[in-house]
Amino acid sequence: MANDDLKALVRTIPDYPKPGIQFRDITTLLLDGAGFAATIERLAAATGPVPDLIAGIEARGFIFGAALAHRLGCGMVLLRKKNKLPGRVTGINYALEYGQDRIEMHADAVAPGARVLLVDDLIATGGTALAAVELLRGAGAVVERAAFVIDLPDLGGAARLAAAGVAVTALLGYGGD
Ligand code: AMP
Repeated sequence: MANDDLKALVRTIPDYPKPGIQFRDITTLLLDGAGFAATIERLAAATGPVPDLIAGIEARGFIFGAALAHRLGCGMVLLRKKNKLPGRVTGINYALEYGQDRIEMHADAVAPGARVLLVDDLIATGGTALAAVELLRGAGAVVERAAFVIDLPDLGGAARLAAAGVAVTALLGYGGD
């Protein structure tokens, strides 16, 4: 993991959304066509065998997940915030620092035994990604890999995913966050 050319395209906004947080803003990476394309190529090269489906986490996980699904030629399942999906859903609540949140997917989206690659822009504590893994596995999916553009290793999310049997790929690391 070095990818300093891509790291130079990520903007850091201090104290957003609250004091002490260094927000790693990928919108500036998306503005750069060559950088966005290189991001997808490097994720594709790093994620191993082509899965049956990519699961993208709303909302920034949809951007990288959809582009990667197109690149790999696989399908995509959307993991959405609550009450966004029109069909019958299955969902899971998970803890945030204050309060809780919920993600949902269509109950019939994933066939039992489907090999699913989880994708999001960034992994911090891993709470969101672990909830996503639990939701997908509850539907019968096999989730052994997850890919992120950015890892904040000091927050321990990648290690928590590894402990849950999910191998993590990330292109950029920011220690000290
Ligand atoms: P977590 O559940 O703690 O792993 O948080 C992951 C989610 O929160 C991802 O969907 C990220 O988009 C967002 N997130 C958390 N921390 C940051 C940060 N420092 N900069 C940008 N996005 C963040």
